Amino acid sequence: MSQEEKKQDAKDQLAFATIAAEAGSIKDGANPVSQPIYLSACYRHPSLDQAINFDRLKGFTYSRVEAPNRKVAEETIAKMEEGYQAFAVASGMAAVQLVLSVLKSGDEVVSLDDLYGGDFRYFRHLESHFGIAFKQWNGQKVEDLVSLLTDKTKIVWLETPSNPTMKELDIKKIADAVHNFNEKILVAVDNTFYTPYYQKPLTLGADVVIHSATKYLGGHNDILGGLVVVNDPDLADTYFQYTITVGDTMSNFDSWLLTRSLKTLPIRMDRHTASAQKIAKFLEMANHVEKVLYPGKAGMISFYLDSEAEVERVLNSVKVITFAESLGGAESLITIPYYQTHDDVEAEQRVRLGITTKLLRLSVGLEDPDDLIADLKQALGD
Ligand SMILES: *Cc1c(COP(=O)(O)O)cnc(C)c1O
Repeated sequence: MSQEEKKQDAKDQLAFATIAAEAGSIKDGANPVSQPIYLSACYRHPSLDQAINFDRLKGFTYSRVEAPNRKVAEETIAKMEEGYQAFAVASGMAAVQLVLSVLKSGDEVVSLDDLYGGDFRYFRHLESHFGIAFKQWNGQKVEDLVSLLTDKTKIVWLETPSNPTMKELDIKKIADAVHNFNEKILVAVDNTFYTPYYQKPLTLGADVVIHSATKYLGGHNDILGGLVVVNDPDLADTYFQYTITVGDTMSNFDSWLLTRSLKTLPIRMDRHTASAQKIAKFLEMANHVEKVLYPGKAGMISFYLDSEAEVERVLNSVKVITFAESLGGAESLITIPYYQTHDDVEAEQRVRLGITTKLLRLSVGLEDPDDLIADLKQALGD
């Protein structure tokens, strides 16, 4: 398919649920309806001529470079995000690294100050090893963000809603302001919490979308994966060369699991939202809960308890909900960001952002919400 045809294809969108349910056709001899898993590291060349004139859009050579199940997962997520091309990599952090791989020494990045904790650890590595400067914006006034931009700024890094304090950003307003300053600056949005079911950053003017596919897209707490989606064919080519070179590409097996999970993304997200709305309401009124942070969509709720003793009690006494450090799966998980996901954020910054030792983060799973409410009720005590 030519680049023009690919773009046209992306525009001829089916409805989201249809893209999801129909994901995974691989045309092979047995005509399976459900996608087979290709556990082959390499692929036969039918002739020298085919090998010399190899077209990577049409065939396969070696799994680091292109792989059938990975291709299906990538095409599905590209359609869901309404992007030109997607890259499936080994983890969300590998996706973060892929996006930042375009930076050179001396470049600058402006990021939101309230991000997934691991991002800051990688930012510090790039700062100390490669002399790349990272500036932080507090997510409030877009003019303040623009005032941090210089002729060295290459990327603006956003996450919305933010993790774990659930602040929402106006992606369109930010992308317009940044591109107005310099259209070459890449606006990158981590879309892990909302997924393309609720938010499609590329359609709002962003240049790059990042996912930890470990979370809602994988949805079953059984794969580790990351995705990057872009609109610009030249940027896609740059990322393709980088990912096949460093070899962080997603395996066929994980790609197969991911595509299987994407089929149910819409109904899972509907259920996560319905249950989380109910649980957020319960928490608002519950004993020992001081404040609830819930943006209204998807399944992530953060809440403050009135004492550290109560925090310990809840984490030690949940029975249906599991005390574990991830999100977006069928099983509800609860975590304490201060010690877990955000341990890599400077202590002073954690306090400033409100990531305290009394803040818990709940990922509402697919269980019956009444069982989850009963579990929280018994854990919170009198
Ligand atoms: C988990 C997470 C990441 C990192 O992804 P991994 O798959 O754990 O490497 C990045 N961003 C957000 C918002 C996350 O929740």
